[in-house]
Amino acid sequence: MYRSHSCGELRASDINKEVTISGWVQKSRDKGFMIWVDLRDRYGITQLIFDEQRTPKDVVEKAKTLGREFVIKVTGTVIERESKNKNIPTGEIEILVKELSILNEALVPPFTIEDETDGGEDIRMKYRYLDIRRNPVKNSLMFRHQVAMKVRNYLSEEGFIEVETPYLIKSTPEGARDFVVPSRMNEGQFYALPQSPQTFKQLLMVGGMDKYFQIVKCFRDEDLRADRQPEFTQIDCEMAFVEQEDILHIFEGLTHHLIKDIKGVEINEFPRMTYDEAVRTYGNDKPDIRFGMKFGELNEVAQHKDFKVFNDAELVVGIAVPGGASYTRKEIDKLIDWVKRPQVGALGMVYVKCNDDGTYKSSVDKFYDQEDLAKWAKSTGAKAGDLICILSGQTNKVRSQLSALRMELAERLGLRNPEEFAPLWVVDFPLLEWDEETERYHAMHHPFTSPKPEDIPLLDTKPGDVRANAYDLVLNGNEIGGGSIRIHDKETQALMFDHLGFTPEEAKAQFGFLMDAFQYGAPPHGGIAFGFDRLVAILGGQETIRDFIAFPKNNSGRDVMIDAPANIDEEQLKELNIKLDL
Ligand code: ASP
Repeated sequence: MYRSHSCGELRASDINKEVTISGWVQKSRDKGFMIWVDLRDRYGITQLIFDEQRTPKDVVEKAKTLGREFVIKVTGTVIERESKNKNIPTGEIEILVKELSILNEALVPPFTIEDETDGGEDIRMKYRYLDIRRNPVKNSLMFRHQVAMKVRNYLSEEGFIEVETPYLIKSTPEGARDFVVPSRMNEGQFYALPQSPQTFKQLLMVGGMDKYFQIVKCFRDEDLRADRQPEFTQIDCEMAFVEQEDILHIFEGLTHHLIKDIKGVEINEFPRMTYDEAVRTYGNDKPDIRFGMKFGELNEVAQHKDFKVFNDAELVVGIAVPGGASYTRKEIDKLIDWVKRPQVGALGMVYVKCNDDGTYKSSVDKFYDQEDLAKWAKSTGAKAGDLICILSGQTNKVRSQLSALRMELAERLGLRNPEEFAPLWVVDFPLLEWDEETERYHAMHHPFTSPKPEDIPLLDTKPGDVRANAYDLVLNGNEIGGGSIRIHDKETQALMFDHLGFTPEEAKAQFGFLMDAFQYGAPPHGGIAFGFDRLVAILGGQETIRDFIAFPKNNSGRDVMIDAPANIDEEQLKELNIKLDL
């Protein structure tokens, strides 16, 4: 028997019990006549004591050889600890050891396995199994498990059934590149790993499953932006005989439940905002509404004076920074440098200080008088003591630049409180999005999303104006879920493929199975998918998803622990009939 108890279990009420516990040596202190060892497992830490007076001599000798992370088993008596440790649940007791077996020795770990470690990111990733022994990572993984259980229970209670869909499939376009897998049995042919189970969940609706969900891996071969993973997990869901309202209702319920259950925060009905409004007032489609600093468009009040920069701009837009009037010249210059960094890309920034006495002082006083500046203050909602930051240029670019500045300033001002939760539905997404590179329209969500029926006539005239029955769930400035009501008839799906530039032959070759299925009684259906990793990170009060993934990849998509991807040998290549030309 390795253990009668875990290392987190014993209390004062267990005093005098004979126990056996196993675990890892966190640290040992050798005082000569006494040795103390902190023994750790997933459940906690228990102090062991080897005492020359009371512990057999050979056991004490063996205890002297223990190094960090040795795996041991001990048997002994639970005794009251002399100096109690209030910080840990087992702090009132220790185990007076009688027997010790070393189950496995350990090399000195490359970093300290404590909450605060001296190991950098790279080394911790290489030895991730040691990193997982640390509380912050261990707790994150346990937290993830809990969230997953709550999701499963909730959806199951609501009548959803978890169905697994295949990983070796054919491309399902979600706007990224596919990871492909060569097929040995079908020479020259490839599977694609799913970017999402989208087509399968729709087929499950045709199959009459009615309410489906799956906590599932998805794969997207994208250039990795910070905090993205090439394989990630979704809570993927689909329902039949539903309209948008039904989906929003159910999944608002799920999100509400999770936030309440995990965070103890009760949120009333989630606000909704159209895509247009989100982009106009916050500069992007996933606004963080925990704080204001809404965009004020200034074209009307700032153009047609002598300031050429503004006159030439498609959009002049500003935000009011609370308390920013007190920034020094140097601080403002730094802010200007910040927006000019290539990552943000603004050409410059105009600012107005709203003085406490009600006057204004701007960087463009030459062109604008107090009356003009008062109008700017009104449009941006700036009050005395605030600083108005104004950017100008091409509409989409300026919006994303100002949005970046808004988030940065909010961060600096401490307005992004991780313990506050501000969910938001963004609805009425455009169906199509113009792609400059290919000079074509792309599906903004994916090609199976249905257009709003009243907008269908615009498909031929103003495709960019067609709105979709598509929605995103945003939480604290992160898109945590997105979905749509689907097309469920062959004609509309064919029309959609046509507008996306597929020839009928291409559409048939790639998605014939789906269009065929639509001819056999496809119910109206729709769904949503949540980014599970991100959701867990946000609920865990953290911005980065890596700590919530047991074995994450680095920014180049590598697993540095197992060293993948890697070359494969000649034989394997031959079997697959693949010739490399490197
Ligand atoms: N398949 C979609 C995605 O991965 C979600 C959905 O439409 O349900 O974003």
